[in-house]
Amino acid sequence: MGESEVVTGPTNTSQRVDVLVVGAGPGGSAAAYHLARHGIDVLLLERSAFPRDKVCGDGLTPRGVKALQRMGVDVDEPGFERVRGLRIYSRKVTLELPWPRLERYPDFGLVRTRRDFDELLARRAQKAGAVLREGTEAVAPLVRDGWVEGAVVRPTGGGASAEVRARFVVAADGASSRLAGQVGVRRDSTRPLGIAARRYYRAVRSPGPWLEVWMDLWDGDSLMPGYGWLFPLADGRVNVGAGLLNTFRDFRNVSAQRVFDAFARMLPADWGVGEDSADGRVLSGPLPMGMNRTPQAVPGMLVVGDAAGVVNPFNGEGIAYAMESGEVAAELIHDALVRRRPGLAQMYPAVLRERYGRYFHVGRRFVRLIGNPAVMRTFTDYGLPQEWLMRFALRFMGNLTDGRSGDVQDRLMDALVRLAPAS
Ligand SMILES: Cc1cc2nc3c(=O)[nH]c(=O)nc-3n(C[C@H](O)[C@H](O)[C@H](O)COP(=O)(O)OP(=O)(O)OC[C@H]3O[C@@H](n4cnc5c(N)ncnc54)[C@H](O)[C@@H]3O)c2cc1C
Repeated sequence: MGESEVVTGPTNTSQRVDVLVVGAGPGGSAAAYHLARHGIDVLLLERSAFPRDKVCGDGLTPRGVKALQRMGVDVDEPGFERVRGLRIYSRKVTLELPWPRLERYPDFGLVRTRRDFDELLARRAQKAGAVLREGTEAVAPLVRDGWVEGAVVRPTGGGASAEVRARFVVAADGASSRLAGQVGVRRDSTRPLGIAARRYYRAVRSPGPWLEVWMDLWDGDSLMPGYGWLFPLADGRVNVGAGLLNTFRDFRNVSAQRVFDAFARMLPADWGVGEDSADGRVLSGPLPMGMNRTPQAVPGMLVVGDAAGVVNPFNGEGIAYAMESGEVAAELIHDALVRRRPGLAQMYPAVLRERYGRYFHVGRRFVRLIGNPAVMRTFTDYGLPQEWLMRFALRFMGNLTDGRSGDVQDRLMDALVRLAPAS
């Protein structure tokens, strides 16, 4: 693909690349990696400098592990903590549910701080040939005749701005996604949004090789539609967090901090999760779910990850979907460039809908249902104690399936998802 050329203009500097990827989170790094792997000239911009924190639970299901493996990441590296499945707590039961054994996905998950993890992915993209520019932000899109053809960029915190012109732009700038917002990508308020908060602790008790999840989150006598988690890190710390959905009746009156505090109060005192063992502050962020951003592409720009709202509504998992959508965007852009048919890349929203539309539709229904405390209570009282049901739920909610060619649970999942429209 074309060589980068730097052109100096009278007022600022202009650089030309094939693809400009804005944001080096998992979505942007995956897009940049898969583009660079095809030999495409790609510039990956990141406004912060690595290593940098990102508020997250740091947990990867087998779906996330697979996305990592597709980037050639060695998942046996010491920084990763392997997890066998989910240990689920409720007032009535504690269940250990190993990840399913499937053809398409590994049977383990991972935990790693985003401080390490995101840098690792950005370096993978760099190693594949992408140019990574840290400490630089995209401040405005460049649009000509309705086609996004680059962005105005400048050093984070100020300095001289420059133009980067590109044949395609990938907006991977996370949940706030100001870049995509400037070309008309909007939040669809009929679709769900989560809020969540997390804090690290040097706790005395380690959960072992499990992602621990509390499915019923109690604030006094009221049950909240969300979940609490405690995930083990390789360095012995734990990531403790809690999240809530905006389908909850009282969502507007509840902050992520309050959900977190309610959850922290639920943990047994002798687990050592308290002020004394805390490492850093409670930090929170939004989870844009079920493709709650629209459109996911405008001419010349494809939107991936949180910027496109592709977090799984069932479980709040966003890393895997950011990486997958980044790869889908990369493949379509590659096709469009190689065949010299720019319109091919604009099929991206249709491909996303095809991939996630039906499943996310069911997920959106699910979160609307559990927003009703009576339904949530029925689920936790009668559903959670049924181990067979929870094994199926683990697959369903993790979107872990071999599809129609799989076993009876896969076929049931396929049949249920097929009933939904691909929207
Ligand atoms: C509390 C919490 C817990 C979570 N827990 C989990 C979990 O355990 N597992 C899971 O899978 N998901 C989890 N998620 C969701 C997950 O964090 C996101 O879905 C995921 O980070 C999305 O990746 P992304 O690449 O789309 O965006 P981000 O990770 O947000 O990356 C966007 C990047 O773009 C950069 N950027 C932004 N604007 C610009 C600009 N203008 N110019 C240049 N760079 C820019 C940012 O600095 C950032 O590095 C959680 C979310 C929250 C809030």
